[in-house]
Amino acid sequence: GSGDLHAEVVVLGSGPGGYSAAFRAADLGKKVVLIEKYASLGGVCLNVGCIPSKALLHAAKIVTETEEMSSHGLKFQKPEIDADGLRSWKNDVVKQLTGGLAGLAKQRKVTVVHGWGEFTGANSISIETEDGAKTVTFDQCIIAAGSEAVKLPFVPHDDPRVVTSTGALELDPIPKRMCVLGGGIIGFEMATVYDALGSDVTVIEMMDQIIPGCDKDIVKPLQKRMEKRMTIRTKSKVTEVKSGDDGLTVTWEDAKGETTTETFDKMLVAVGRTPNGKKIAADKAGVQVTDRGFIEVDHQQRTNANHIFAIGDVVGQPMLAHKAVHEGKVAAEVCAGEKRAFDARVIPSVAYTDPEVAWVGMTEEQAKQQGIKIHKGVFPWAASGRALSNARSEGITKLIFDPEDDRVIGGAIVGTNAGDLISEVALAIEMGADAVDLGHTIHPHPTLSETVNFAAEMFEGTITDLM
Ligand code: FAD
Repeated sequence: GSGDLHAEVVVLGSGPGGYSAAFRAADLGKKVVLIEKYASLGGVCLNVGCIPSKALLHAAKIVTETEEMSSHGLKFQKPEIDADGLRSWKNDVVKQLTGGLAGLAKQRKVTVVHGWGEFTGANSISIETEDGAKTVTFDQCIIAAGSEAVKLPFVPHDDPRVVTSTGALELDPIPKRMCVLGGGIIGFEMATVYDALGSDVTVIEMMDQIIPGCDKDIVKPLQKRMEKRMTIRTKSKVTEVKSGDDGLTVTWEDAKGETTTETFDKMLVAVGRTPNGKKIAADKAGVQVTDRGFIEVDHQQRTNANHIFAIGDVVGQPMLAHKAVHEGKVAAEVCAGEKRAFDARVIPSVAYTDPEVAWVGMTEEQAKQQGIKIHKGVFPWAASGRALSNARSEGITKLIFDPEDDRVIGGAIVGTNAGDLISEVALAIEMGADAVDLGHTIHPHPTLSETVNFAAEMFEGTITDLM
């Protein structure tokens, strides 16, 4: 039809993986078409994920920290929570970033087509746009179709009081009684927000700890602080959710087989995300999709079809924006003929809860399970001058070393700003740094970054004054 396009590289989906791939391919001289269903670019991360959740978590931290300062000689009045005001500020933050992306696409002469795209052949995609169907033919394609929230068959998802993360970010309304099904990163971040904004929150998690996957010792200070503010039930399985006039009646079973039934005004279902691989007619292009909807790729992000690549959430775990961005750049560079492969040693994970928890590389549990011997250096923040001055000394910094050569192979941090601090550990692992390297690098005083330096010194036995 009219307005049909040809691209050297077409990118399907404009999340962090997709826009990074599109921009990198354009910078390398490729003629790029970027396809996105929604009017705004940025995918889940910018629109309904990383960014809006962090804006609300920032607000939550201000509320809880000002509450806590009241016992240290600084009394604030109880905050007036204006959900409309908060929502509109959060939306402005998102708009600034997505608007910025649209500008960057234009600068690079990336053609953006808005509409749902599906493969119609090995070298063509058809897009349902507002002005009818459009066809893009391509030489190479990068699939960046992302993921969506998992829904549960026994939960009445058509009840507006039941939301996934996208609905939860709308704060509409902030309920009196809030149930969060799933104590993973997304569930616990939103629990933190709703608690600070005044809801009575109950988190129900099936595993034996919140933030499954993270080091147990590291999760403890977070759990301890939050148990003072909300109800946390681990090893508990929700078995029934019923819609009623007075709310959502939720039944769960604990490890002893005892059941509890309680009524809530709102429920967030945060039990994981499922890839969008099955929705794009990948078979028409000869691209294989697994039963679960993932697209398998090699270390160059190439699918089973030689000219089609895939990146981000749709290729598998961990479903994180920084992984998607890295993969996007690899795919774009391989498309442009560069010798590039995904060879990152580690990918950090962060829960932006309060305190934050962050981990990278080998965890103590993994080492135990795999029968790998490790050495460790642990520094409690109760001995950090900066953490004490921040009135937040509950943190812990833990480093894991290879016992053969003392190289850093993992790290986990709980405490304020743990997400920023973990980057140093990731760099240490990538560079093959050892305990002496971290111990001898001069860190600015007084900072939380010193806790990484101190954890290395704790292991080396070279620590002198704790401050
Ligand atoms: P996505 O961001 O999922 O984007 C895919 C895009 O493709 C979407 O815009 C979709 O509309 C479009 N699309 C898909 N198929 C088609 C099609 N056929 N036609 C047209 N358009 C299509 N990760 C972090 O690293 N840090 C965080 O703090 C963090 N917080 C999060 C908080 C929440 C509440 C959620 C839900 C997720 C969070 N994540 C976080 C995860 C992060 O958002 C994802 O890992 C990331 O967005 C994945 O990027 P992606 O490029 O693979 O795809």
